[in-house]
Amino acid sequence: MKNLKSVKIILSRPDRPGMVGDGFRVFNYFPSGNNIRKEVSPFLMLDFGASHYFPPSDRPRGVDVHPHRGFETVTIAYKGAVAHHDSAGNSGIIRPGDVQWMTAGSGVLHKEYHEENFSKQGGDFEMAQIWVNLPKAHKMTAPKYQEITSAGVPKVKLPDDKGEVSVIAGNFNGIKGAASTFTPLNMFDIKLKAGANFSFDIPKTHNTSLLVIEGNIKVNGSEAQTHDFVLFRDDAEKIEISTDIDAVVLVLSGEPIDEPIAQYGPFVMNTQQELMEAIDDFNAGKFGKLD
Ligand code: MN
Repeated sequence: MKNLKSVKIILSRPDRPGMVGDGFRVFNYFPSGNNIRKEVSPFLMLDFGASHYFPPSDRPRGVDVHPHRGFETVTIAYKGAVAHHDSAGNSGIIRPGDVQWMTAGSGVLHKEYHEENFSKQGGDFEMAQIWVNLPKAHKMTAPKYQEITSAGVPKVKLPDDKGEVSVIAGNFNGIKGAASTFTPLNMFDIKLKAGANFSFDIPKTHNTSLLVIEGNIKVNGSEAQTHDFVLFRDDAEKIEISTDIDAVVLVLSGEPIDEPIAQYGPFVMNTQQELMEAIDDFNAGKFGKLD
């Protein structure tokens, strides 16, 4: 027996993208549409901005100042360049392979948009944003920002030089990831070359999923096509991936956070009372200032 995790469900890409501001044309895999919130915890949301050409613009497209409380936003750039500013005084620009890991915690205001030069030139833009829940004990932690450049992400070469795993967070076959996290989780950005065939283990206690960003793959006996989202059962440890063509895969896994979720837009807490407090604090200006 190979001890492979069984595939629970494969979801194809949602039919239509939504716009976040005017710069992020994203397909939402969860929570909207697919009722898999329990099976993907600690991840709250997956927005995938599939590759899309944005024509030149003098005014950078994006989403203007907005708040978050109670969780983390993680942005991975695949094509183009994403800029970020927040009320905790952090800012940064990420390019392909880079990651912004923002802990909203007790509350920040931020804005997210296309980097200025990229906007002026126009071009293909591709990114993913994942919301990572925080457990009750850390929801009101001080805001934090980890800018993780591609160079700072540990890389694991696949056998026969058939690709590379960027260990954004967690642990890939013993190699520790770049990001510090509040609960145990894995985030792997995997680039595969045609003919790749490899496997890795994820603890049984994790909820586990992957998104096929590019190409198509065979995973644990199932075929997953471009932009398919694969949700696994927690019945074994092993994931085995192979492909006949070049492919890119994002793997998300983590220990579920077994607590109630109360969400109002950009605030994710445990109770309605805490949501009211979040709204009051935001209206009272307690999330700081950002122009
Ligand atoms: Mn945001």
